Amino acid sequence: MKLVNLTTFFDTFGKAGKPRMNMSIYRESFKCACGKSHWFDESIKIVCEGTGMKIAVLCPEEAFITSLKIKTFMVFKFKGFESISGAQIKTEGDAVLLASVFKLMRLQ
Ligand SMILES: [Zn+2]
Repeated sequence: MKLVNLTTFFDTFGKAGKPRMNMSIYRESFKCACGKSHWFDESIKIVCEGTGMKIAVLCPEEAFITSLKIKTFMVFKFKGFESISGAQIKTEGDAVLLASVFKLMRLQ
């Protein structure tokens, strides 16, 4: 996983949309940008969805965001999460950026 700054994180994430996928079928632990692994369930906050089965999630413990690729076999069979990149939310600018992304997602 590549650790980048938050602006680069959203730049490389690409086109993002409001989370709409049914994520209840995807239960697996994922490697978080904070360095730990977390179990993915409904307690994990999804920031946005991207094209190609990609999601951005918030770390449940610290101020980190991670982009995950949902790996599947023949579309239907879930094969786990692949962590693509991550960023730490550390500056006031980062917090503002994240807040504006959340606002944008609610408007969609
Ligand atoms: Zn974490």
